[in-house]
Amino acid sequence: MAKKPEKQTLKPDRIPMLERPPEKRAADFLEVPLGYTVNQAKDEASRCLSCKNRPCKDGCPVGIDCGGFVARVSEGDFAGAVKLVKEKNLLPAITGRVCPQIDQCEGPCLIGKKGESLGIGNLERFVADWEREHGVVLPDKAAPTGMSVGIVGSGPAGLTVAADLVQLGHHIVIYEALHEPGGVLVYGIPEFRLPKAIVAEQIGSLQDLGIEIRLNQVIGKTFTIDELLLVHDAVFICVGAGAPIFMGIPGENFIGVYSANEYLTRSNLMRACYFPEWDTPMLPGGKIAVIGGGNVAMDGARTALRLGAEEVSLVYRRSLEEMPARAEEVRHAREEGIRLMLLAAPTRILGDSSGHVSAIELVRMALGEPDASGRRRPVPVEGSNHALAVDTVIVAIGQQPNAMIASTTPGLEVDRRGYIAVDKKTMATTRDGVYAGGDIAGWGASVIRAMGDGRKAATAMHQYLMSKKE
Ligand SMILES: Cc1cc2nc3c(=O)[nH]c(=O)nc-3n(C[C@H](O)[C@H](O)[C@H](O)COP(=O)(O)OP(=O)(O)OC[C@H]3O[C@@H](n4cnc5c(N)ncnc54)[C@H](O)[C@@H]3O)c2cc1C
Repeated sequence: MAKKPEKQTLKPDRIPMLERPPEKRAADFLEVPLGYTVNQAKDEASRCLSCKNRPCKDGCPVGIDCGGFVARVSEGDFAGAVKLVKEKNLLPAITGRVCPQIDQCEGPCLIGKKGESLGIGNLERFVADWEREHGVVLPDKAAPTGMSVGIVGSGPAGLTVAADLVQLGHHIVIYEALHEPGGVLVYGIPEFRLPKAIVAEQIGSLQDLGIEIRLNQVIGKTFTIDELLLVHDAVFICVGAGAPIFMGIPGENFIGVYSANEYLTRSNLMRACYFPEWDTPMLPGGKIAVIGGGNVAMDGARTALRLGAEEVSLVYRRSLEEMPARAEEVRHAREEGIRLMLLAAPTRILGDSSGHVSAIELVRMALGEPDASGRRRPVPVEGSNHALAVDTVIVAIGQQPNAMIASTTPGLEVDRRGYIAVDKKTMATTRDGVYAGGDIAGWGASVIRAMGDGRKAATAMHQYLMSKKE
């Protein structure tokens, strides 16, 4: 008779990851959390209650068997654990660092009802780093099918489609507009949250599988989608939604107003964070206001601090409770000395006689009834306008799609906001053989959701390619 599993006792407290102290880390770009040791990982994994329904798996947009890999970690079978994770996700060192786990796999964890949910993200990061140190094992590849796929964009959506389809035997070429692959993982998310060497290693392991990446190829200009269809049997569009959105208030043209994407791209992709070794110019410190409450705003604020700002204020129109940024980023930002100005919104930016930003005018907000987003709507408090003296304003209130591909691809439908229209089950667009996913398909805006789209598209594209071959 099979042995009955031992009943687990609830251990309510999560094993914390060691982190670099705020005063040290705020002065450089090195990674903040230091990861688990082997013993810490086993101890954390042993908190898992091994529940029958495994709600953690349902919470993961790519369906990782979280309970299964955690069980292997608790037994010390790290190779087995990482193998299980990689059945669904070939980029675990990235997702283990940036996924909003508390809203996904960790959200429904039963331990979370009585204490702190299991640290699934921390354990995913541990097994991925363990594999990086012990040698990455590449998955098996099917025999070549003779079919070829062009992928436009090398962010998480594109890398996932590429990884899935190359394993199924298809020839894969990724076309990337920038001079480095990785999308937001490289140009947006800063080094102190996601070291670029790790992104490069993870992409390198995909290249080892045979994926070809062609850089500096702006599709819509260098080639059109129709031209790609002359040399590929199918195309996947995953160009993200990187065009900035500004607030539409007076003064946004003053010198010293940046979109968060431009600010972060200069620091990350153009390596201003390593000035003077790299000579990308950035305006020097001073007082900085960052507008927004998401991960992008947190990244902008924490980057500004590290680049030498004297004071960084993050202006958000709702309260802490509604803030969309990962809880860990908010905690880190506050520990590092970022000032949160909650329930405040800009009304105009003021400048000096030389055209530089000198201040930002804010109005206090009160929270009204929930709006379409389900969060309470901010309402301006009349007569509460006041000025905050600043030298730089970073606008991080969202991004939108760039129209280049839609405007050069006849028959490719977009919605009224410019996002590519897709069938949500297959990610097929309105053009035969053309699929799309990730941020350009209009919902999600997270690394793992973009990867989830990539997985769905890869399944449908494989079927399409095989039917075309017959
Ligand atoms: C600063 C910042 C921080 C974030 N933090 C987090 C986080 O902590 N956790 C999280 O889950 N999500 C986070 N996100 C969101 C997440 O990064 C995105 O949802 C995700 O990267 C989208 O993936 P994607 O593959 O659709 O597009 P992207 O990552 O945007 O990649 C698109 C790629 O396509 C390329 N491209 C664009 N146009 C063309 C063209 N015409 N031809 C060829 N190539 C083109 C771009 O250069 C880019 O490399 C963050 C986003 C930003 C901006």
